Amino acid sequence: MAKGKINVSVENIFPLIKKFLYSDHEIFLRELISNATDATLKLKHLSTIGETKVDYDNPLIEVKIDKEGKKLHIIDHGVGMSKEEVEKYINQVAFSGAEEFLEKYKDSAKDSGIIGHFGLGFYSAFMVAEKVEIITKSHVEEEGAIHWVCDGSPEFTLTKSKKKDRGTEIILHIADDSTEFLEEHRISELLLKYNKFMPVPIKFGTKEI
Ligand code: ADP
Ligand code: MG
Repeated sequence: MAKGKINVSVENIFPLIKKFLYSDHEIFLRELISNATDATLKLKHLSTIGETKVDYDNPLIEVKIDKEGKKLHIIDHGVGMSKEEVEKYINQVAFSGAEEFLEKYKDSAKDSGIIGHFGLGFYSAFMVAEKVEIITKSHVEEEGAIHWVCDGSPEFTLTKSKKKDRGTEIILHIADDSTEFLEEHRISELLLKYNKFMPVPIKFGTKEI
């Protein structure tokens, strides 16, 4: 008898995540808004239990289309991420920061509304984007802002950013086969479909959802 361990390499699994994680490509927006919502609710929770100096002032999540630049921006004013957190939560596929947060704060956070679970949602962005940027600044004041860029290969770059305010901006460089997601009516439709009952308000164009 032989026993062994199945070996999965990032190079093999990354294309699978990108193409087949969800049959419906449109849900990338729900996943990114869920993360923005989680980040906002985490800040709210930390503020409630006195673990952050930052005031939670019920911030908005913003979605913006840059048609000429072929970009979609999702901006939140939540907890943000330090360099170490980007390395831990983003660079490690399938490691869920949401799950870790709920585990850490157990009872006090069980009604916080935090949604994330499997640590895969973020990568659904690559179903519609050829390149994804994260610009983020932690609510922990001493942490510098960070700029992460990945073009869908398992390689990424991580540099310092000049971002001053706390929170995270995700920039999707929409791929040529997904330009429908640069149309205002399509994004409006998705926000209504998936995010109508979310606890943090979303600003899109001049509308609030
Ligand atoms: P999940 O939401 O299931 O934990 P994701 O793949 O969607 O997994 O995201 C991985 C982790 O990256 C999150 O748990 C969180 O720690 C971090 N993250 C993603 N988006 C944001 C954001 N907008 N602000 C702060 N942290 C984020
Ligand atoms: Mg998520």
